[in-house]
Amino acid sequence: MSQLVYSSKINKIRTFALIMVFVGILFMYGGILTKKIEWLMAIFFVIGVLFVVFSCVIYFWIGLFSVRAVSIICPSCEKPTKMLGRVDACMHCDQPLTLDKDLEGKEFDEKYNSPKYRKELKEKQDQTNKK
Ligand SMILES: [Zn+2]
Repeated sequence: MSQLVYSSKINKIRTFALIMVFVGILFMYGGILTKKIEWLMAIFFVIGVLFVVFSCVIYFWIGLFSVRAVSIICPSCEKPTKMLGRVDACMHCDQPLTLDKDLEGKEFDEKYNSPKYRKELKEKQDQTNKK
């Protein structure tokens, strides 16, 4: 069975923003290549600028998230890392991490972060407690 590798959310968003910058630059480069056709050049430049602006927004967003993220020392590689939500992965070694004692030892799953799932789980527990 292949083991899924979960990477840290902050790292994922950062990679995404970096790709956006490159896509933006690529579009602007396309603009330079098509400078003989003015309207095409304009379109390429506008799209390129939009991508770069979009990635700047994402970077800003990561900054806001990083402030809210919990700083911990990874038990696996002993480096400081930041985690978002109840489950996340280490930024350095991708070790799955959890803040929730109930989830310790369980298989890492992104669904543990969703409030809907947590609500369902709680209702299930309440039902079994009543019986
Ligand atoms: Zn680690």
